[in-house]
Amino acid sequence: MRRVSIFGATGSIGQNTIDLIARAPEEYEVVALTGASNIKQLAADAIALKAQVAVTADAALLPDLRDALQGSGVEAAAGAQAITEAASRPADWIMSAIVGAAGLAPGMEALRQGTTLALANKESLVCAGQLLLDTAATHNADILPVDSEHSAIFQALVGEPMDAVERIIITASGGAFRDWPLEDLPNATLAQASSHPNWDMGQRITIDSASMFNKAMEVIETERFFGVNPAMIEVLVHPQSMIHALVGFYDGALMAHVGPPDMRHAIGYALHHPARRHLPVERLDLAAIGSFEFRTPDEVRWPALRIAREVMDRGGLSGAVFNAAKETALDGFIAGHLKFTDMSDIVAATLDRLNAAGGHIDDMMTLDNVLEIDKLARETARAAILKTAR
Ligand code: NAD
Ligand code: MG
Repeated sequence: MRRVSIFGATGSIGQNTIDLIARAPEEYEVVALTGASNIKQLAADAIALKAQVAVTADAALLPDLRDALQGSGVEAAAGAQAITEAASRPADWIMSAIVGAAGLAPGMEALRQGTTLALANKESLVCAGQLLLDTAATHNADILPVDSEHSAIFQALVGEPMDAVERIIITASGGAFRDWPLEDLPNATLAQASSHPNWDMGQRITIDSASMFNKAMEVIETERFFGVNPAMIEVLVHPQSMIHALVGFYDGALMAHVGPPDMRHAIGYALHHPARRHLPVERLDLAAIGSFEFRTPDEVRWPALRIAREVMDRGGLSGAVFNAAKETALDGFIAGHLKFTDMSDIVAATLDRLNAAGGHIDDMMTLDNVLEIDKLARETARAAILKTAR
């Protein structure tokens, strides 16, 4: 039996992971499941999968979790520290699918036990990519990508030498507003930004798809994970979301990964790697689809893509500043304090501010330093939001 843990079990990626595991319960021993506010779902899954422990990030919800698990034999725990501790419980495969920088500390803890970390939490790579990679190397742990584009790149690279790679193209659907007139973007509502044309995902990543902050994060994730020069990474708008990424080689070949927009493919690939096993995803009928479209992304519509380039050029801890500012600006938009188009201004202003200050951004990449600059960037972004808010 393989021991597995799922961090962010109640979310979109977590539930898709549970869907795969629940199809073959005899193969898995579930160690830890974690969530935040959705105690009902967390407890139901922990009982159904006979998990050792269920952990909620919200310490105030511990009594509710205990009640829901009463008599089941599943342990209950709560708080950020308890989530990180759960990542040290021995497991052979751990899904990192918490949303946001909150996924960094548990991901690091999981790597320290030398396990296989299936990484959906792109924020941790953007904040502290080198630290994660170094920790994995020190402890003989493996990191497998779960983001669909990165899983696609990883698969296109099987058996290929990295020095034969000329470029990496990641595709973007363009999100909710790809065809909107530019002048309407400032008035985009939360409901409009929260609806994705192709993928069914958590609310935060869906809004990030509309602003392309998600793609901006993924460009940085590509640089960190595959260790390539930023100039080799291209973004291509592909409204059908069926080609997830392409790898271009020095002989002119482009290897494309094509599949339906269903995260169970990338999750399943990471779960069974290096084997390929049957997965319950739609088989594409290309003749019925007929054609694929491609467009160059417009950096006026999506300034996040330009900001990502600046972050990669700047280096240091600017990825952590970028991510924290982006998360704070997103909170501001969700709370109704910011217009949709204000988000990129807040992120750019926060980067300018902390870059110019010349302080912590050049500190060594340790977990403490990343968490400290994350806090500083959130404060800086919140101050900028207060000034902008109308
Ligand atoms: P989601 O919002 O649906 O779920 C997030 C999970 O994190 C939930 O289980 C929630 O309880 C938990 N969580 C939230 N705040 C927390 C905190 N402070 N501490 C601990 N746990 C907390 O998000 P999602 O769409 O499943 O995305 C999860 C991660 O996977 C993100 O990093 C996202 O960028 C990445 N990702 C998602 C998709 C997708 O299709 N949904 C695709 C690629 C990558
Ligand atoms: Mg993606």
